[in-house]
Amino acid sequence: MRHPFFKTHTKMNQLLSTYLSRILDGGQLDEAEVYSLLDMPSDELRDAAAQVTARFMPRQFDSCSIINARSGLCSENCKWCAQSAHYTTGCDNYPMVPYDECMEAARLNHEGGVRRFSLVASGKAVRGKALATMCGMMADIKERTGLYTCASLGLLGREEMQQLRDAGVQRYHCNLETAPSHFVTLCTTHTYEDKLRTIEYAHELGMAVCSGGIIGMGETPRQRAEFALALRRARPHSIPINILAPIPGTPLEGTPLISDDEIFDTVAIFRLTHPTTPLRFAGGRKRLSREAQLECMRIGINGAIVGDLLTTIGSSVAQDRALASDAGYEF
Ligand code: SF4
Repeated sequence: MRHPFFKTHTKMNQLLSTYLSRILDGGQLDEAEVYSLLDMPSDELRDAAAQVTARFMPRQFDSCSIINARSGLCSENCKWCAQSAHYTTGCDNYPMVPYDECMEAARLNHEGGVRRFSLVASGKAVRGKALATMCGMMADIKERTGLYTCASLGLLGREEMQQLRDAGVQRYHCNLETAPSHFVTLCTTHTYEDKLRTIEYAHELGMAVCSGGIIGMGETPRQRAEFALALRRARPHSIPINILAPIPGTPLEGTPLISDDEIFDTVAIFRLTHPTTPLRFAGGRKRLSREAQLECMRIGINGAIVGDLLTTIGSSVAQDRALASDAGYEF
């Protein structure tokens, strides 16, 4: 008689094969099926996700770069964030990046072959004069470099989003951050629905949407699946995945690090839940070995926020180009 584990394993593999065939045919998993991925054997789960990535993701690596246009002094209390004024973290505080520094960052990234460039600002929302200044920067970047422009300026209203759109910004970034059931334990100054409203404004104005979040913030594996499902509400064109690097001074400073295996399984679940949406490495990947980063890219990651001297991603554009090439991508 066969061992019961073997029977269960075989049944799971059959179920996964059924899911995989459906996804490769253009279908998608329902909610219960996404949760059932948590019971699948890891190797098979990751291989299934890798097949979906190979089928649906272009061979061109989806690179982008960011500049912190405004840093620190944020009114919000997100427990993971160095920039919240509720915590003492020693992060840089400045209200506006100098214009020349922003243009230089855009120029360097453009020359390095990076495809998209984003202005990112701390705070609940950028409004008024600060928004007008940032819109001017984005319009100038577009005119001088032709870069695809993105912005991440908080919980904008419709009119503010329109200002960005008028400045030529093509994509708006607003992370849902984590599962809804976990978010309420990490931030009480704004809500998931606030984020979804801003994201909807971007959709209504014909902008693309970038929305993902952070894993390793003490969430359970089930909450990672819940998060992947919740992101469907944002209808994102790009999903950035950050890995928490706990920051001293924040309430999450003592959070145990998520293991490489958990990261691989999470990438697989995200890929199988979002078969045709680019998944990009964002912050926190520098703690992974090169091999672990390549494994993430085999499973599902096909883009990244890449670094240069003006950002703190922890890698250079040249290093990331070599990494993407080793993973089989053109950069
Ligand atoms: S709103 Fe943004 S900048 Fe402010 S604390 Fe939250 S994550 Fe940090």
